[in-house]
Amino acid sequence: MSALGDRLADVDGRIADAARAAGRDPAELVRIVVTKFHPASLVRELFELGVRDVGENRHQEASAKAAELADLDLSWHFVGQLQSNKAKAVARYARTIHSVDRPSLVSALTDTGVDCFIELNLTDDPARGGVAPDAVEALAERVAYTSGLRLRGVMAVAPLGADPRASFARVREVSHRIRSIVPDASAFSAGWWGDCAAAIADGATHLRIGSAITGNRPSPG
Ligand SMILES: *Cc1c(COP(=O)(O)O)cnc(C)c1O
Repeated sequence: MSALGDRLADVDGRIADAARAAGRDPAELVRIVVTKFHPASLVRELFELGVRDVGENRHQEASAKAAELADLDLSWHFVGQLQSNKAKAVARYARTIHSVDRPSLVSALTDTGVDCFIELNLTDDPARGGVAPDAVEALAERVAYTSGLRLRGVMAVAPLGADPRASFARVREVSHRIRSIVPDASAFSAGWWGDCAAAIADGATHLRIGSAITGNRPSPG
């Protein structure tokens, strides 16, 4: 098998082990391979290895790859910060947007039919993507009242140096509040590869995994 195939099999094995250890069914987890900075040819290789869910964080790059790979039945996940004026364009190829963090973005996604996650900012830096924990309910209500937009749950990015278990506890608390508004928005999109087992034990349903599968990223062009 290729090195890529080996890494994919290794990661999937560890995900399955962590799921079983947590008493969860591995089949209910969505493993998203984040392919940013990698060429479309790598995404095609991943497809041939059985990957269907891929993630990107920049619109220009993502739309070019999605167009080049339009012959493949891939599910594109947009995981990066998103400007409202690009939202409609992203929704043309992405089935899921993980980074909804403000009302203007929600409005821009009206009737696009995408699934979305509310991104939570777990840092004290308001310049980082994500909504502050105390603004989550208002945003969830806004999504709930917007037609053609489905709220799946909460997404978070691992803050550098923070204790992952403490972060997961905050995500769980926010997830609870989101479900009081949209009861079936129970998904949790996590990107902590180093603590993937803990994320799974703490309820992650979507795992965003990049370099552990793709290998090191080429430097941005
Ligand atoms: C790049 C990226 C990932 C994957 O990061 P790796 O460290 O390569 O696994 C996950 N989530 C987001 C939002 C990303 O931009």
